[in-house]
Amino acid sequence: MKVGTTTLTNGTRALDSERAESIVRQVVEARARGIEVVLITSGAIGVGVGRLDLPRRPTTIGSLQAAASVGQNILMHAYETLFRGFDTPVGQVLVTAGDLADRKRYVNFGNALNALFEHGVVPVVNENDSVSVDEIRVGDNDTLAAHVANAIEADLLILLTDTDGVYTADPHAVADAARIPFVEGVTPEMLDIAAERPPRHASADLGTGRLATKVRAAEIVTASGIPMALANGAREGVVGEILDGVDIGTFFAPTAPRAASRKRWIAHTLSPKGAIVADAGAFRAVRHGGKSLLPAGIKDVVGTFAFGDAVRCVTEDGAEFARGLVNYGADEIARIQGRRTDAIRHVLGYHYADEVIHRDNLVLVENGACVRDAPQD
Ligand code: GLU
Repeated sequence: MKVGTTTLTNGTRALDSERAESIVRQVVEARARGIEVVLITSGAIGVGVGRLDLPRRPTTIGSLQAAASVGQNILMHAYETLFRGFDTPVGQVLVTAGDLADRKRYVNFGNALNALFEHGVVPVVNENDSVSVDEIRVGDNDTLAAHVANAIEADLLILLTDTDGVYTADPHAVADAARIPFVEGVTPEMLDIAAERPPRHASADLGTGRLATKVRAAEIVTASGIPMALANGAREGVVGEILDGVDIGTFFAPTAPRAASRKRWIAHTLSPKGAIVADAGAFRAVRHGGKSLLPAGIKDVVGTFAFGDAVRCVTEDGAEFARGLVNYGADEIARIQGRRTDAIRHVLGYHYADEVIHRDNLVLVENGACVRDAPQD
């Protein structure tokens, strides 16, 4: 779920405490439905501009970095306080474009969010604007949110903004402009409509998102099988309404089979660097039990590979049954194979993860063809 600067500040240069409280409450309510939520928050620069008493959003990198640094702190302080009121821990995760472009760091990023989920924490994500410079920035949190949704194979991306969705024309200029409730496949025309729309509020210059970036975010996630809802963050209870399927905002339907693309990426796009030989128990657990591959079930390692690489999982007869992204390099696996999970730290002197391949990074294959996602418990 991504919330924009204007939504959080209500058009001012400070955090609007009612808005922030409402967002936090809606995250808590979604979690009460059993839904894990990552909150992608904008507003660092906008709030920092206010705190530093700058007349407007700065244009120099240094001032943007300073505003982001100051504002990010204010944001996290507010989130920590508000979520604490609901007895919910939050964890700050700041990302740079490089974290998303490099496969190992991308996997690591997804792992970090999953680790936070396992501890019942709401990850609060923003771009690390205070160390990001123009050429290497994601630049807008709509795109960032789309990448985050992909990295964790989210079930849904919600973008909360200051409009009610995508319209057939600019609703402020054209009287009979109609909200587009449902989109199946972003068209070039839609990108055109979105790109022409100027920001609505004078303060919108504090955020960087435009409708065009939202429509592009929809393009990114729907192509990975993830639906996206774009709705007005000022609407009370908007998140619950979206989850209930109420007809508000604009809903972008997936244009590819759900979650298949990342699994396909693992199964087909990446060339495996080596192989892990699993014993019969590990084969059964992975193949039929939807389990992760643990060191205990590993008999042998073939080839040279590093953390984040794709490898084949083969039986002792050499038949490939799965592929996945490893949490340990070949040398490390050779040292921990056959050992219990709690021996990893003892043997290596450190511990990245319990699993050699986490089931989220594992795809079952047959004769080199991806047959299906590993079944989940
Ligand atoms: N990362 C920026 C911030 O927190 C916001 C980017 C955006 O508005 O999309 O200020």
